[in-house]
Amino acid sequence: MLQVVIVGAGPAGLYAAERLLKGGAAVTVLDRLPAPFGLVRYGVAADHQTTKMVDRVLGRVFQKGASFLGGVELGRDVTLAALRQSFDAVVLATGAPRERRLGIAGEETPGVLSSAAFTGWLNGHPDHAGCPLPESAIEEAVIVGAGNVALDVARLLAKRGEELTGSDLSPEAGERLAALPLRRVTLLARRGPDAVRFTPHELGEFGQLAQARPRVDPDALPPLREDEDEVMVLLRRYAEPAAAKPLEIRFRFNAVPQAFLAEAGRLTAIEIATPAGSERLPAQLAVTCIGYSAPGFSELAAEDGRFANEAGRIAEGLYVAGWAGRGPSGTIPTNRAESHAVADRLLSEVAEGGKPGMAAFPEALRSQAWSFDDWQALDAAEKAAAGEGRVRRKVARWEELAAFRKGR
Ligand code: NAP
Repeated sequence: MLQVVIVGAGPAGLYAAERLLKGGAAVTVLDRLPAPFGLVRYGVAADHQTTKMVDRVLGRVFQKGASFLGGVELGRDVTLAALRQSFDAVVLATGAPRERRLGIAGEETPGVLSSAAFTGWLNGHPDHAGCPLPESAIEEAVIVGAGNVALDVARLLAKRGEELTGSDLSPEAGERLAALPLRRVTLLARRGPDAVRFTPHELGEFGQLAQARPRVDPDALPPLREDEDEVMVLLRRYAEPAAAKPLEIRFRFNAVPQAFLAEAGRLTAIEIATPAGSERLPAQLAVTCIGYSAPGFSELAAEDGRFANEAGRIAEGLYVAGWAGRGPSGTIPTNRAESHAVADRLLSEVAEGGKPGMAAFPEALRSQAWSFDDWQALDAAEKAAAGEGRVRRKVARWEELAAFRKGR
């Protein structure tokens, strides 16, 4: 049987697994996290549970014969060389977990957070357990970036009470957010309104927030055209007069961050360059949402935040799928099509070589790893602990995850 190992149990990896199983391969999926599903569990916003439901489809690969080894990290627990020796082919689907940096003064100031830290905390990611918000009262926040992650951050800062019903936001995070005396959130787009990367559905949600009102300066918009896209139509709607709400979400364009300013070690403002000159926006919290990169590891360097490849092939028997190869763009269906194409290519190029596959892993590694059964037990326990108005309560700390696994 053709032996394939996929590194990364997110959508890109599991869609590749789906296709490879169909093609008759034996598939092993590794992930450094104990739980599968990558960004579906840890990236898709806590209040977008309908999107998260794709985990049911993705999880089917494990019912159809793929093996899961969670908590196994490439480069730490197993080398790429060892994987290439034991399997006919390796597919890297490790995503792009490292946040990009602005590289401006003051970026290390407490109160300046990356989207990975902020959304990781809200999503119960074990690398980001513990509230990253500064203790000081936050009345004004700034979000840098004009993509869907920036919208996720703004929306979660704005939602209150019943608006979070049905989410999996932890009670602690919900209480902390609800206690913020926020009056204004400003989203900074470094280019004009016609160059934002929002998608219409996600931008449209801002028109329905109970406590927050989106606001665009009408003078910042270009002259009306007949063939405007849905995003521009929404931005125009947000430029119309509307009733005030406790929180204002301002969209600013052509605003390029220059520096974060601090007093007594605390963030107080962000300096931006605009076509009219430089300006200081008061802020006690800033979240940078400017994209991600793949960090690479000792045996394989990344170039420009991704692994260089030609249509999914890195080298003989070594393939890449998803953000690790393409860069951080596109939605879950984008990954489905791409991963299927990479899997088809692999199936047509790689011959069975009598390799041992997972049987070559040391027993100690296999017995320590999380199996899909372990994950299903955690899934059931999290759902049982959900509490009122929530669909699950995530086990978010490494030590609690380890204790859960040990207790099985
Ligand atoms: P993104 O869509 O690429 O947006 C990144 C934003 O950061 C862009 O506005 C970019 O501006 C800006 N940026 C980059 N470098 C900057 C700098 N140095 N200074 C100021 N601004 C800078 O990335 P994302 O929001 O992280 O999303 C990643 C992918 O996931 C996207 O494909 C997104 O659609 C998807 N996603 C989808 C959903 C959903 O469907 N609900 C939710 C979240 C994410 P420029 O355009 O000028 O480079």
